[in-house]
Order: sequence, then C-alpha cells, then structure tokens
Amino acid sequence: MTTPRLEIRLADLAHNTRTLVDRLGERGIEVCAVTKATLGSAPIARVLLDAGATSLGESRIENVESLRRGGIGAPITMIRGPLLSQVDRVVDGATSSLNSEPAVIEALATAAVRRGVVHQVVVMLELGDLREGILVSDLAEVVRRIAVLPSVRLVGVGTNLACQHGVIPDRANMAALADAAGAVARQIGGSLPIVSGGNSANLRWALDPNEDVSGISHLRLGESILLGRDPTDRRPIDGLRTDAFTLVGEVIESRAKPSTPWGRQGQAAFTSDDVSVPDESPDTGRHRVRTLVAVGRQDVDPAGLSPPPGLRLVGASSDHLVLEAVGDSAPEVGDELRFGVDYAALVRAMSSPFVERCLDAAGLDPTPAPTG
Ligand SMILES: *Cc1c(COP(=O)(O)O)cnc(C)c1O
Repeated sequence: MTTPRLEIRLADLAHNTRTLVDRLGERGIEVCAVTKATLGSAPIARVLLDAGATSLGESRIENVESLRRGGIGAPITMIRGPLLSQVDRVVDGATSSLNSEPAVIEALATAAVRRGVVHQVVVMLELGDLREGILVSDLAEVVRRIAVLPSVRLVGVGTNLACQHGVIPDRANMAALADAAGAVARQIGGSLPIVSGGNSANLRWALDPNEDVSGISHLRLGESILLGRDPTDRRPIDGLRTDAFTLVGEVIESRAKPSTPWGRQGQAAFTSDDVSVPDESPDTGRHRVRTLVAVGRQDVDPAGLSPPPGLRLVGASSDHLVLEAVGDSAPEVGDELRFGVDYAALVRAMSSPFVERCLDAAGLDPTPAPTG
C-alpha cells in the first residue's frame, strides 16, 4: 500500500459519535458533527450521521459542496461566518449558517429569495473569547433587522469559546447565552430551537452532573468525535477512542551517525522549533541511529505527531521526518512507521494531495487521494 497514508478507522468514529450523542442526549443536547478537519468527506460524514449526529458543521463552502456531491442530504450548517462573496453558494449548499454580520444576513436573504429557498440563521454572540460574535447589547437590534427579511428564518443563537483565547465554557457564560436566547424568544414571540453552546471545549461543562444545562440544546463537535480529546487540555475523553486516525510513513534511510552536526553552520531549511523535541542531543561521542521517514511539512504538521514507541522526533523539513532511536532497536529502510496525529496534524494530512486516505469499512478500502 502506498505511503504516506492516513488510515481512518470508521468504527472508532462511529463509537465516539454514538457515545457523545448518548451522553448529551440524556441532557437534552443534540450533536452537530463538525467535519471540517476531514475536508468534507462524505463517507466519514455518513458514519457520523448514522451514529446519531443530527446535522453536520462545515467551515468552507467547498467542503459543503463536496458533501452534497457525495450524496449527503442531512442539514449542514456553515459554522464560519459566510463570505459576502459566497452567499449564493451558501444558500444553495447549506441549510443554515452561524452569523455575526447583519449585512451578510441581508445578502443571504437576497440570495435565498433569488434561489427560492429559505435559509436558517443562527446569530453568534461574543461571550469573551474574542473571535466571532456580536455583543449581547447589540442582539435586540440585529434580531429586529432579521425579522423583516424575507427567506431567512432566525432559528437560534450560539457562541464559540476556547478557540482564540482559550476562554473556558462555564456556568456564567453559558447562563449568559441561555438568557440571551430567552430574550430573543420573547422578542420574536416564538421559540428558538437552537441554542448552540459551542464546540468540543464545552463537553466538560455540558456533561457535568452538577451543572444545569437545560438552556442549551446544541453543540458543534469536531475534535472530540474525530480524536476523542477535550481541546481545553487535550486529555482523552473517558470512553472515547483517540486513535481513529493514524499516519503511516515509510523509512527511506536508517543509519548510525554522530549525534551532533559538524562543519560551519548557517540557518537550516526550517528555523521554527515547533517539533516537540529540539534536535540538540548532547554529544555523547557515541553514534546513534537516525531514521528518515518520507513524510514532511507538505504532508503533516510535524509538531502534532506522536512517533511510535522507541523513537523520538528530532527534526522535520518539507519532505523528511528525522527520528532517533531511544532504545537499542531501530527501524530499517522500507519499514512502515505509524504516527498518532493531533488536530493540526490531521487537518494538514487531510489537506495534502500527497497523503492517501484509507477508510476501513471491513478491511482497508483505499480511496483516491484528493487531486488538484
Ligand atoms: C471548528 C469549530 C467547531 C468544532 O470545534 P471542535 O473543537 O473541533 O469541536 C465548532 N464551532 C465552530 C464555530 C468552529 O469553528
């Protein structure tokens, strides 16, 4: 089988989705499965929907369109604010969108009229993390502006925390969201089906039996489903699988060499020190086995890789990972090495045209790498 490749265990993704859907379902919260890290993979989306997610979340219109082309009919929410220049594509492909700019909502309305559809709008509130969202003090005015528009329906309010400044979802900011939702419902004289509390960083709060989560009806979950981790500290979530994705690379050199470079030194190809273990091994005078793997920054974010046991990552360039054997045994040329991935590494690997994706249904079914 070709390398580098990303092996994707669909059964693990189904397990993670089902577990979260069940746990949150008991608390009255539905799951929107965020597939943006999969680049809008329809086969993966289908697994998440079959496991109980009620809708999908996507950040880029191209991914929405590829889900639709792949036969996905479920509701899809644009979770990044739609671009003014893409409103026609958004109302065509997405059922709903998260919004924080009235001008965009007005353009969505115009586009929806043009296309003869109704587009659903969720208004995003800024509750402290300082990424997207309007201030609560502006909410009533924005709701008034939406109320007079044709072909858009205000279906909810939401917020996003933890992504920009790591602000943690808690009793106070979730109560602020629930209160705002109540105020909007009174203002429009109707109910607001979606109160979208946030992303995977909300799980600890949402599943805490001591918290009253009755004001929240919806979470948008990506990392927790795909990688089984809580993004606030990257710890595994109890009962979830953390290795649904594995990056496999091939050894192209494995040789004993001195432990420090020699000769006059200038800048290396990549000067950032984002690889977890800097390549400054003490000069022990002994040779060590250095192993080159044919995977590089064009394929993956090296800092987000977990090397196999017995090896540590000491460097990376466009096309190479450099590893050092910790113990006595070292890989040989031609060996396949398996790496765990974090979210950044996963996104980069899914986006690289050089990385083949292998979805296992029963065995490992190779799927074509993305082209173009
Ligand atoms: C990416 C994203 C999510 C999903 O975040 P995870 O931490 O992967 O669960 C949810 N909402 C918005 C607005 C996002 O951009």
